[in-house]
Amino acid sequence: MSGAFAEGRIQSRDDGGMVTSLLEELINVIAPTHCAGCRKWDTPLCDECASLAEQSPIASIIDDAKSPMRSVALGTYGGSLRNLILAAKHDTTRDLRDWLWRAGHSLGQGWLDHRAIVDVPTGNKPLHLIPAPSRWTRAWRGMLITPTIAAGAAQAIHDAGIPVVVVPALHQKWGSSQAGLSGDQRRRSRNRTITALIEVEEANCVLVDDVVTTGATMLACRDALETAGGRCFVGLSLAIVQNERSLK
Ligand SMILES: [Zn+2]
Repeated sequence: MSGAFAEGRIQSRDDGGMVTSLLEELINVIAPTHCAGCRKWDTPLCDECASLAEQSPIASIIDDAKSPMRSVALGTYGGSLRNLILAAKHDTTRDLRDWLWRAGHSLGQGWLDHRAIVDVPTGNKPLHLIPAPSRWTRAWRGMLITPTIAAGAAQAIHDAGIPVVVVPALHQKWGSSQAGLSGDQRRRSRNRTITALIEVEEANCVLVDDVVTTGATMLACRDALETAGGRCFVGLSLAIVQNERSLK
């Protein structure tokens, strides 16, 4: 069904928009009946949006005066991909863990495919996949998504014969909000709030985040890992905010 509503469930929008949208909300509380990505009715996740987890990632650069960072993302932040990410982070009525894992798997595969331009040397230690930290409020609500993405990526990298571990090494101090800050301010602020919980001496690290907006979080995570003795060359993310630097 390409249109609006399941027949019989909700007859028509004309008999009172308020009532209809209230009904939509109520039904959705019980079980999501529209797609988390495109809002299409009668499915919590349509085939098209489910397949966004399998699309070929794009490589780009996160600019930095000191040393630019490589990035691999599933796509640009917008449309159905954006809606899916927001639902995974905030909508407690949905379980998108399987989608996140498969998206992570594609990102791991994407890094392998893009290794010529986003190479990470693999040394004596297994490659460390490091989930970007979230504020404690999200951890408390059980809406952490970066560890699931990292687990999917780790499987793809493991399947390619590269030793890999997921290491939740980073921590974000609580009470820190990025809202209303510019990119530079975000970065300075992040540098004070993201710290490594453990030493990652000599480890080659790949960061995993949900969305790269200004790159400030990725760069702050890298700084924290380098302070803890690690090396960090590349970040994986579900989506990157469109810029003209994409290498494709
Ligand atoms: Zn959809």
